[in-house]
Amino acid sequence: MYPKGRAWIEINRKALLHDLSELRSVLHEQTEPMPAIKANAYGHGAIEVESILREAGVRAFCVASVDEAVELRRAGSDAELLVLGYTHPLQFDELFEYDITQAVVDLEYARELSAYGRELKVHVAVDTGMHRIGERWEDMDRILSIFRLPGLLVKGVFSHLCVADELCEDKKRFTEYQISSFKKVIDGLHENGFRDFCTHLQASHGVLNHSELCFDFARLGIALYGADRGMVGESGKRLDLWPVLSLKARVVSIRDIHKGEGIGYGLTYTADRDMRLATVSIGYADGLDRALSNRGSALINSRRVKIIGRLCMDQLMVDVSGVADVKPGDEAVFIGRSKDEEISAIEVAELLGTIPHEVLSGLGARLQRIVV
Ligand SMILES: *Cc1c(COP(=O)(O)O)cnc(C)c1O
Repeated sequence: MYPKGRAWIEINRKALLHDLSELRSVLHEQTEPMPAIKANAYGHGAIEVESILREAGVRAFCVASVDEAVELRRAGSDAELLVLGYTHPLQFDELFEYDITQAVVDLEYARELSAYGRELKVHVAVDTGMHRIGERWEDMDRILSIFRLPGLLVKGVFSHLCVADELCEDKKRFTEYQISSFKKVIDGLHENGFRDFCTHLQASHGVLNHSELCFDFARLGIALYGADRGMVGESGKRLDLWPVLSLKARVVSIRDIHKGEGIGYGLTYTADRDMRLATVSIGYADGLDRALSNRGSALINSRRVKIIGRLCMDQLMVDVSGVADVKPGDEAVFIGRSKDEEISAIEVAELLGTIPHEVLSGLGARLQRIVV
């Protein structure tokens, strides 16, 4: 098998380690990174990313499901693994067997975890205003009830900022409210004799925009993958984040198209001139959004070329009229660099009206991940 035969992802180890150290430079010195490696590490490959970061001294990670955590354990991870989302009670055995820490989404769920019969490690979620998971920060009695349940080893308390990426006055005020509410919960727990737990609140933008905060962990995601502009608050300072992932495929075939001919499913593109087309071995089943039809670009031999017609499931066409030397087998880059040209995940996300998290996490399972 040849991993670069059709369509593949390259993970740049040096870039990942560089971004980790850039982010450490703004993290409070007492705050440890807890990288978010859910959704196959945002499409990068969870096992690969976890092992690179673990070798660099990272000791804790968060994922979205118990299955993701089990996969990492089976691949040899001895790090702390926190499941941020729901685990069905029929899978509590797996939490126990694989020493996985579970998020407590509310008091009801805490009771289910408590009833399991064997001690489970948990981090308690607190709702400070996002209203997704966690008991409300004001309901200290309910939060304390979770801490007092038998059978739960409460190792941590966390919350999540939902507008930390926005810096207008009302959003900043809301983030301040979330921060102070979270701190009140921590104080309340201390006052009630609970001291032996860790705390975490910030994701990437919580770190970039509120780097003064000092909790035990920061759940770094998108910035660690270098798919963020890395602006540090309003300081004007910008971290030098390097994109970790490249998405590449092969030129399959070259053909000449006459003016007036239609191209691809639905014939949505009509050639307005004689043109040269290259078919490329990647499609929407690889996670490239079909909305890139007639809109997206690729880089071939460091030239930017446009996607022509609709993306197919496994192939697509690009206009290579201006690229003299293109031939079957050449690389086509959909995210990443080709000499001086670059297509970033941020650019693709903006074109699609979404965020790079969605572009990256949607990249398909059938793409080989290659660490370079
Ligand atoms: C995904 C996730 C993160 C990481 O977010 P980024 O914006 O990618 O840094 C942090 N915390 C929670 C709870 C998450 O679900």
